[in-house]
Amino acid sequence: MYPSSMVVGGGISGLTTALEAAEVGYEVFLVEKQASLGGRVSQLKHYFPKLCPPTCGLEINYRRLRDNKKIKVYTLSEVEEVSGEPGDYTVQIKTEPRYVNEDCGACGECASLCTTEIPNEFNFGMDRHKAAYLPHNMAFPLRYVMDKALTAEEREMLKKACPHNAVDFDMEETHFEIKVGAIVWATGWKPYDASRIDNLGFGRYQNIVTNMMLERLAAPNGPTKGEILRPSDNKPPESIAFAQCAGSRDENHLPYCSYICCMASLKHATYLRAQYPEAKIYIYYIDLRTPGRKYENFYAKLKADENIFFIKGKVAEVSEEEGTGNINLVAEDTISGEKMRNTVDMLVLATGMQPTAAQEPLNVQLDFDDQGFISNDFSKGGMFAAGCANKPADVVTSNQNATGMALKAIQTLVRR
Ligand SMILES: Cc1cc2nc3c(=O)[nH]c(=O)nc-3n(C[C@H](O)[C@H](O)[C@H](O)COP(=O)(O)OP(=O)(O)OC[C@H]3O[C@@H](n4cnc5c(N)ncnc54)[C@H](O)[C@@H]3O)c2cc1C
Repeated sequence: MYPSSMVVGGGISGLTTALEAAEVGYEVFLVEKQASLGGRVSQLKHYFPKLCPPTCGLEINYRRLRDNKKIKVYTLSEVEEVSGEPGDYTVQIKTEPRYVNEDCGACGECASLCTTEIPNEFNFGMDRHKAAYLPHNMAFPLRYVMDKALTAEEREMLKKACPHNAVDFDMEETHFEIKVGAIVWATGWKPYDASRIDNLGFGRYQNIVTNMMLERLAAPNGPTKGEILRPSDNKPPESIAFAQCAGSRDENHLPYCSYICCMASLKHATYLRAQYPEAKIYIYYIDLRTPGRKYENFYAKLKADENIFFIKGKVAEVSEEEGTGNINLVAEDTISGEKMRNTVDMLVLATGMQPTAAQEPLNVQLDFDDQGFISNDFSKGGMFAAGCANKPADVVTSNQNATGMALKAIQTLVRR
């Protein structure tokens, strides 16, 4: 019988579950497969409705984490296997080597000397970074990572150069076991793969990006240092269209609404307006979903902008204008069926959220719905899903759900 729990996934939901359980006195093991906690929220420039940078929410959680001895964090780690029952689970964990130990002072000397570069996954491959790197400027733990792409000579040079003696290429993959009474899965979401939506041209035309790419283009620590420039020629865009429900509410892709895409595009309009006071912004939608008073107020403010055009129509076809890189689009009016045409500098696809577990199956007995979201069966107890592992949601809803799942985990421990 084990009075501790495990949280798998260190995004905003996993952090919340772990902190809520630890702050009432329960030991928590937090397992994150990336080199840093923070999840998708750390990739956003701002988050609605307040439009604060992710630093505000994440930093508060990191401080709570630092102050709490009850939480043990394992980054670069994944669950390999779970056996047992509520109150008594044995979890096998695998940890990848970081090749940098806890003495790292995050001074950046290794990155400045390193010459090997790798695609920057945090920026969706829109730029490259050094193979000795900090995951991002809000990384927790604030420790560099050495990528396996480093050559033998570079490894030797970086090891010698580190002023903190923190570089250690003798580190190896480790496997170990933890016993816990309850497990909360907070494995989150991935952006739907836009290249699968044939008619929307992603991957064929450079000036078509996804909503998450736009977050990175707008972020000060992104590939363009926060300037939203169109990818083909770095030109400041004068006209930008958003295609809502790109692949969403569509039986061929994601049959559900991801809840946040309308709000995300409205937020993106604020990023654009702040940089380009004259830009024309076109939002093509089936129906705009801005639930609740705060979100409706957010929408109302943008409706007052005379250069933001809300068009009830689904983008059906795109092509590239010869010589300019501009995007021609054809949208179908959802009521009359009539075709509407437009040509813009850039098109943003508002793609939805797909559960991570649908793309990277978990080796564990859980109930999944037909889209790969983990269903909560409270009668079984013991293992629960929090945040976007359970359903598409915004941060507020994810946090409420994650707090509830901390309580469910504690109830399992108390009832044992
Ligand atoms: C374009 C866009 C803009 C958005 N903007 C906003 C906004 O402004 N405001 C707002 O409220 N919401 C916004 N959202 C929604 C927001 O991103 C989510 O609500 C939030 O990310 C949910 O957090 P989460 O922790 O559930 O999932 P995630 O953020 O996905 O975190 C999951 C974590 O689990 C880790 N993980 C995954 N699998 C494993 C595994 N097997 N083992 C260990 N770890 C694992 C991941 O690496 C990650 O760190 C936006 C979404 C999109 C698409």
